[in-house]
Amino acid sequence: MMRELFKKLYQGNIKELKEIIRERLEKEEKMFIVTANPESFMNQDSSFKQILNDPSVTLVADGISVVKAAKSLGIYIPERITGIDLTQELLTICEEKHYTLSLLGAKREVLEQLINVIKEKYPHISIGPCLHGYTRDDEREDFFKKIALEKVDVCLVALGIPEQEKLIYKHLNNLNKGIFIGVGGTFDVLSGQKKRAPKWMINLNLEWLYRIIKEPKRIKRFWQNNIVFLFKVKKLKRKD
Ligand code: UDP
Repeated sequence: MMRELFKKLYQGNIKELKEIIRERLEKEEKMFIVTANPESFMNQDSSFKQILNDPSVTLVADGISVVKAAKSLGIYIPERITGIDLTQELLTICEEKHYTLSLLGAKREVLEQLINVIKEKYPHISIGPCLHGYTRDDEREDFFKKIALEKVDVCLVALGIPEQEKLIYKHLNNLNKGIFIGVGGTFDVLSGQKKRAPKWMINLNLEWLYRIIKEPKRIKRFWQNNIVFLFKVKKLKRKD
C-alpha cells in the first residue's frame, strides 16, 4: 500500500510541474495537488488515504525524507516540492495571467495580512473569495459554493494535514475548474507572521530542524511521523 503511494509520486522537478499547472489553467482543467510529507504517509485516516490513492490527485514529495525514501525503493525524484515553493510559483503565474486567487485558512489577521502582501507584490492578481481558518463548517460550504460560482483559477487551503485535503476533496466534484492545493503553514510565512528557515538551512534540507527549534512542540509529531516513517520504509526495502 505504502509502496503504491511512492510509485504515485510526481517524478519531475518544480519547473516542470509549473508548466503542467500552466497548461491545466489554460485549458481550464481541474487539478488537485497534495504535498505529501512523512506525516501524510503515516496518517491512518481512511478517507485521507483514499485521497492520496486517488489517481486523479497529483501527489508531490514534500520533504527530503520522502525523496530519500523513494530513492531507496528505486524511485528517482529530482527534488522535494513544498507547499510554500508551489504557492510562490502559483502566485507568479496568477500575476502574469491576471488569474483569480482564493485563500482559505490561517488566523483572521494572518489572512488579512497575506491579502495585503499579495495585493502589493502581485497587483494583477484578482483576489477571489477568501475565508480565515477558524469559522463554522457552513461558512466553509459557502466559500466553496462561491469558488464554483466565480470560477476561481487557483485556490489555496491552509488548514494543516489532513483537514485541508479532506475539505478540498469533499468539494472537488462540484468544481469545474481550478488548481487546488493544501499548503499547511504557508500563509503564516508569506504574510510575514512567521519566518521561513534561512536559505542555507533550506539548501541543506534542514528546514524541518528549523521548524522544530522554533516550535519545540513539533518534536512529538516529528518523532511519531518521521522516525516511524523511516522504519517503515526500511521494512519495505527489506521485502525487495
Ligand atoms: N489552521 C486553521 N484552522 C484550524 C487549524 C489550523 O486555519 O482549525 C491553520 C493554522 O493557523 C496554520 C495552518 O492551519 O496556518 C497549519 O499550519 P501548520 O504549520 O501546523 O501546518 P503544516 O505545514 O505543519 O501541515
